[in-house]
Amino acid sequence: MDRSLEYAQRLDAEDPLREFRGRFVIDDPDLIYLDGNSLGRLTHAAAARAQQTVREEWGSGLIGSWNRHWFDLPQRIGARIAQLVSARPHEVVVADSTSVNLFKLALAALRARPGRRQIVTDALNFPSDVYVLQSAAHCAGSEYQVIVVPSRDGMTVPLTDLQAAVGAETALVCLSHTTFKSAFVHDMAQVTALAHERGALTLWDLSHSVGALPIDLNGTDADLAVGCTYKYLNGGPGAPAFLYVREDLSAALQNPLAGWFGHAHPFGFALEYEPLPDARRFLTGTPPIVSLSLVEAGVDLVLEAGIERLREKSVRQTEYLVTLWRELLRPLGYTLNSPEAAASRGSHVSLGHPEGYRINRALIERMRVIPDFRHPDNIRLGVTPLYTTCVDIYRAVEALRKVAESRIYLDYSRLPSGVT
Ligand SMILES: *Cc1c(COP(=O)(O)O)cnc(C)c1O
Repeated sequence: MDRSLEYAQRLDAEDPLREFRGRFVIDDPDLIYLDGNSLGRLTHAAAARAQQTVREEWGSGLIGSWNRHWFDLPQRIGARIAQLVSARPHEVVVADSTSVNLFKLALAALRARPGRRQIVTDALNFPSDVYVLQSAAHCAGSEYQVIVVPSRDGMTVPLTDLQAAVGAETALVCLSHTTFKSAFVHDMAQVTALAHERGALTLWDLSHSVGALPIDLNGTDADLAVGCTYKYLNGGPGAPAFLYVREDLSAALQNPLAGWFGHAHPFGFALEYEPLPDARRFLTGTPPIVSLSLVEAGVDLVLEAGIERLREKSVRQTEYLVTLWRELLRPLGYTLNSPEAAASRGSHVSLGHPEGYRINRALIERMRVIPDFRHPDNIRLGVTPLYTTCVDIYRAVEALRKVAESRIYLDYSRLPSGVT
């Protein structure tokens, strides 16, 4: 392959989505930001929206803004996200954090499958999700447990390994659709079919998928899902998350943390709880309006670009990155810690190196490249097709090459520091 900078520039010039980069606040064009899978960039639209929400809606509109702008935001933005995940509009709402939503749905699922006492997940899941599942199991009763299916290669978990674990005791199969370390993507249709065949429900964490690749919740008959809005959806730091409950299931599921926002008549102030009929019954308390309102700007931009086109670009770019790795980085001791087949890879690429931690520090502090690091040796390079360029990828690979070849990482400590 052509390994020149000019080639990368040509790819960018031919990119049909190239105009979208201009919709983001990019204060320093030389900073190479490959961490949009952890915290998406700020859009101009979100900055304007923040001003509007704070100054006009709150400042001028005061409490009247609840009726005029705010009260239906969780479902209004949920309906937009529904378009990205192939769900019906009333099946998705925005609320709380991914962790809290995961807890609420997992516990509700356990209670909807009495007699079955296991949650099946895998070792590639986000560890915090496993803690949450353990908490839900604990609340359900001491006889409940979480089964963690191991990964043989640290990168993938094939369907056959899940088949061996899902059985008559399984109430719920809960997985990250795209796994946070290797970017391996589970086959949602096959895993869901397996769970259903054995009488279990599925709960998907879409945090590393939504906004990066098409998701077909209705088409695969998925039961439940949660996901993050501050990664590929560019909703802003700590922005509230979303949850999905398939239409025909909601009546049978009870929110274990019921509150007035999930009530059919929140302002009736009755002491009896009467849940809303759809996914909104999983709302609990007052939403964080300022950060919630920013989510809309991020979601709208993804919808405007089109998820199919974003996925095409993401595949082109991760393929480009993997090719550069093969030709330039593999000889220097970098391993590919993500699947080689684009079809089972999300939008980030993990590279391993025994000196991964120090290399990551050198990239950030010396080379002006921002990836992130995941224990024990993963340097994650997140491709965000709305704003990542092929020149970014080219420069990041050049930096990785230089840091390893010239052993620049020797200048940095192995001791961990802060958020990675
Ligand atoms: C980012 C991420 C989360 C984050 O959860 P919070 O509640 O926002 O801290 C959870 N699960 C997965 C799989 C993630 O990638």
